[in-house]
Amino acid sequence: MKTSAVTVAGAAVACLASVALVSRPPVALIVQAPPDWKVIEEETMRHYQTLVRFDTTVKERPAAEYLKRVLDENGIPAELFALEPDRPSVVARLKGSGRKRPLLIMGHTDTVSVDPSKWKFPPFSATRDGGYVYGRGTIDDKDNATAALMTMLLLKRQNVPLDRDVIFLAEAGEEGNSSVGIGFMVNQRFPEIDAEYCLAEGGNVARVGGEVKYARVQTLEKVPHGIELVAHGISGHGSVPLKSNAIVHLAGAIARIGAWRPDIRLNETTGTYFRRLATVSPPDVAKHYQDVLSPDPKVRAAADDWLFENEPSHSSMLRTSISPNIFTGGYRSNVIPSEAKATLDVRMLPDEDPAKFLDLVKDVVNDPTVEVRFASQEGRPSGAQARLDVEAYRAIEASNTRVYNVITLPTMSTGATDMAQLRAKGVQCFGIGPAVDSEDGPKGYGAHSDQERLLESELHRFVRFNWEVVTELARAR
Ligand SMILES: [Zn+2]
Repeated sequence: MKTSAVTVAGAAVACLASVALVSRPPVALIVQAPPDWKVIEEETMRHYQTLVRFDTTVKERPAAEYLKRVLDENGIPAELFALEPDRPSVVARLKGSGRKRPLLIMGHTDTVSVDPSKWKFPPFSATRDGGYVYGRGTIDDKDNATAALMTMLLLKRQNVPLDRDVIFLAEAGEEGNSSVGIGFMVNQRFPEIDAEYCLAEGGNVARVGGEVKYARVQTLEKVPHGIELVAHGISGHGSVPLKSNAIVHLAGAIARIGAWRPDIRLNETTGTYFRRLATVSPPDVAKHYQDVLSPDPKVRAAADDWLFENEPSHSSMLRTSISPNIFTGGYRSNVIPSEAKATLDVRMLPDEDPAKFLDLVKDVVNDPTVEVRFASQEGRPSGAQARLDVEAYRAIEASNTRVYNVITLPTMSTGATDMAQLRAKGVQCFGIGPAVDSEDGPKGYGAHSDQERLLESELHRFVRFNWEVVTELARAR
């Protein structure tokens, strides 16, 4: 997943001049010389294009072996760990003094699938055109994998003394098969990746009209808990309508669910997010972000209506969301079916009590012939939000200021990532990502879209950002 996060539709963002950025004095790195970024760009592009050119929609092994070879050749011994032979994850470690607990930097090597007919350039060509690199995985998530790889190589080459181990993880199976990737690593190989902090996908820097406006750092994510509605009725001849018709009952239940928006509940991340977003948004839009924080339920509801209409991803951030996405029932036009079923995509707030929420859904459905139950699906655990008062968050915030000169917004993503499993183990995880044009998603170039692309200049800036954050957090003091 990549937080195609929060597309702020139509929310052109105001100038930053009035915003007090949280800044820290520049850090004097304890290295021989700063990296020569011009030289590094060529190397970055080579690794990035190579990774994109591996079709990792069903097996990650070629990409994993490539990463291992590059790390090994650079004097960083890497290991492959696999639950399924074709789907290994890669782990490598740079040793620190042990004064602090490790930092894990990661990117997943698998991608979602493609429909090649929809692509202007072949999806695994990594074609460079007009300042962009095109290909599946360019922003989900071979950008993070490349940036983490380059940071490892640079730390080694610059011989940076470290206060903590820096662990590289390129995991398989993030896109819907996390049991072979992060699930396996966390359940069976946790000591290999155990860390105080982790940096992964899930954030980005918003560019609007070609200018960077603010950085989103994912500190929390919703928890998927699919729910099924199964209507049971009496079967019969279609020429004799029955009151118990399962399709009619299910349709009524879905209509009631569709009209229901669960209560708004903010947490530290989303509260801070809307408050800060308001400071960098035009007044007419900022008003809605402020109103959503209002203690007055009427003011809040009006803002919620506006967000639901205009910025649905923001509306989803306010609550546990429900979207009915599958509806099945019936098999012949002249037969009344005895059963009809709908599947609801439910994304719970991290502190939601699933059993209580299921009861709420039953109340809304309000029909004894409609069974309401959890769908069986590969789950992700819920974990505590990453803290905003820790060294890692401060380092990310300071690096956003230094590299992008933008304000940092802590973000709760509505989708799920591999950070869920790590947060459940107590690792403080932060989702980061390169700058992408907010206009690109609606044009069909976003993560999981028909096409995918990243600006070359933003890939390089993201590598520098990674380097800044990691050295700030891990170098010896
Ligand atoms: Zn992803």
